[in-house]
Amino acid sequence: MLKGKVAVVTGSTSGIGLGVARALGRQGADLLLNGFGDAGEIEKLRSGLAKEMGIRVAYSRADMSKPAEIAGMIEQATKELGRVDILVNNAGIQHTSPIEAFPAEKWDAIIGINLSATFHAIRAALPQMKSRNWGRIINIASAHGLVASVNKVAYVAAKHGVVGLTKVVALETATTGVTCNAICPGWVLTPLVQKQVDDWAARDNISNEQAKLALLSEKQPSKDFVTPEQLGGTAVFLCSDAAAQIRGAWLSVDGGWTSQ
Ligand code: NAD
Repeated sequence: MLKGKVAVVTGSTSGIGLGVARALGRQGADLLLNGFGDAGEIEKLRSGLAKEMGIRVAYSRADMSKPAEIAGMIEQATKELGRVDILVNNAGIQHTSPIEAFPAEKWDAIIGINLSATFHAIRAALPQMKSRNWGRIINIASAHGLVASVNKVAYVAAKHGVVGLTKVVALETATTGVTCNAICPGWVLTPLVQKQVDDWAARDNISNEQAKLALLSEKQPSKDFVTPEQLGGTAVFLCSDAAAQIRGAWLSVDGGWTSQ
């Protein structure tokens, strides 16, 4: 379905981003991967995906907290792969703490990487999408883009911001072939969440499995994690013709979290 298209997926060396990149690659899209990690491991991932899926795969080390590097990543994708048709803004970080103890530099980093990076990447990629009258912008927000939890002031503010930004971009592109939507996942067992499971287990002196169930039971009625593969499937759907008039939407994939 996506043969001839080029997808840039930020934060795709791990977790949800990698799941989304794999799903788009399986549909034939060429990929630009981005994110941190061991250089050798990333090269193995890059060449492995290219071989397994018969697609071109590039990699950018751009730091999503740096606007110039974000613009450079879009330039690199255009130069190496010819164009950018699909942009998935996924890179994100977390820090939990009550607001009085929340380090100001963590606030800046979370707003920078989880929210501002989305603005900078869209700003850089949108003109060429508009010029071809086709594009898909998919922002990975969160259930925390719709509702709040304690101790996540920066994350919740950033993710609500992503949902708002998504609506504005959707309106500004409404008469074009470019769509912009947000996906709002619930708990997905990635390194970002495993850290919260570990903190819970240490705090309550319980096992990893007990901490996972406690985390799920608090928020997610299905008591089951969402998977990166399921989110990949949602992204593929948003890239399909069936989704051409889905604009400015937030798609909850959260095991019922925000229905409560
Ligand atoms: P993860 O930690 O597994 O992956 C994060 C990715 O972002 C990695 O590839 C990492 O290298 C990259 N990254 C981090 N900082 C970066 C920076 N400055 N520049 C470039 N890349 C950077 O996390 P994940 O759980 O897969 O999260 C991905 C997205 O999904 C995030 O935006 C997160 O907020 C969102 N999300 C996660 C969950 C969940 O339960 N895991 C739920 C809802 C939303």
